[in-house]
Amino acid sequence: MAAPGSIIGFVGTGVMGRSMAGHLLDAGYRLRVHNRTREKAAPLVDRGAVWCETPGQAAEGAAAVITIVGYPADVEQVYLGSDGLVAASAPGTVLIDMTTSSPVLAQRVHAAGAAVGVPVLDAPVSGGDVGAREARLTIMVGGDPAAFASVEPLLRVMGPNVVLQGGPGAGQHTKMSNQISIAGAMIGACEALAYAEAAGLDPEKVLTSITAGSANSWSLANYAPRMLAGDFAPGFYVKHFIKDMRIALECSREMAIDLPGLELALRLYERLAERGGADSGTQALYLLYKEHAARL
Ligand code: NAP
Repeated sequence: MAAPGSIIGFVGTGVMGRSMAGHLLDAGYRLRVHNRTREKAAPLVDRGAVWCETPGQAAEGAAAVITIVGYPADVEQVYLGSDGLVAASAPGTVLIDMTTSSPVLAQRVHAAGAAVGVPVLDAPVSGGDVGAREARLTIMVGGDPAAFASVEPLLRVMGPNVVLQGGPGAGQHTKMSNQISIAGAMIGACEALAYAEAAGLDPEKVLTSITAGSANSWSLANYAPRMLAGDFAPGFYVKHFIKDMRIALECSREMAIDLPGLELALRLYERLAERGGADSGTQALYLLYKEHAARL
C-alpha cells in the first residue's frame, strides 16, 4: 500500500507533473524525481524531492512510480529503455503511467512488467492545467484490480474522480473517448464565439448566458474566456492534442468505426500547427476563425 510517508518515484515534471508531484509532497509522500530537463524539477527538489539522473533511479526503494511525459515514444523509453522503469523496479513496485498514450503500448508495457513481477497501470488524466493545480483531476485507470487498490489513495491525492475502467489499456481507451468529446467541444466553442462576434454581439456577455445553459462544457467555460482575452499560452499543447487525436483515429480504424467529427477536428488542428501553433494552447484554434481561414 502506497501510504503517506512512503517513497514515490515521479518522472515528468512539466505543466501537469509539477503540480501533481507538488500535491504528493503536500500529502507527506517522499518523492524521487526525474525529468528530461533537470531545471523543471528544481522547484520540487527545493521542497525536498530527491533528484534522480534516470527513470530507473527514481524507482529505487519506491512503493510506486508515477510517470506523466509527453508522447508514446517517451513512455516507451522511460519504461522499456536500458535505464527504464521495468528493468529497474523491484517486484511489487506499482508503475503508473498518467501520460496520454496509446492503448496498445499500455498493454505492451503491462505485459513487460508482468513478466518481471512489476504491475503497470495506465492512468491518464483529464481536467487540464487547472485541474492539476487544484488537485481536481479525473483519473481513468486500466490494469489489475489488486494493483489499483494498492495505489488508489495515492491517485486520490491528485483528483477525486478515480475509476478503474477495466484491464490494461482501458484507461487509455477511456481517455481517447474523452479527447473525442473535447475535439467536438473545442470546435463548438470557437464557432459559438465566431458567430456571436459576426452577429455584432458582445461575446463576453454571450458567454454569461450560454455557459449557464445546456450548451456549457468544460471547454466553453475554461477556454472561451482565454480565446477572447487573446491568451493562447498552454494549458494543453496543440501538439499533444494532435497526438491524442491521431491515436484515437488509429484505434477507431482498427475497430472499423467512422468518426468524421474527429477527422475534421484533427484537420483543423494540423492546419493550426502548420501555421506555427503547435506549442500554443488548444484554445488557439480560435485564431483560425479570427483569420476566417477555417473553410475546409
Ligand atoms: P509537458 O509540459 O511537455 O510535460 C512533459 C514532461 O515530461 C516534460 O517536462 C518533459 O521534459 C518530460 N519528458 C518527456 N519525455 C521524457 C523522457 N523520455 N524522460 C524524462 N522526462 C521526459 O506536457 P504536459 O502538458 O504536462 O502533458 C503531459 C502529458 O499529459 C501529455 O501526454 C499530455 O497529452 C497529457 N495531458 C495534458 C493535459 C494538459 O492540460 N496539459 C491534460 C491532460 C493530459 P522536458 O522538460 O525536457 O520537455
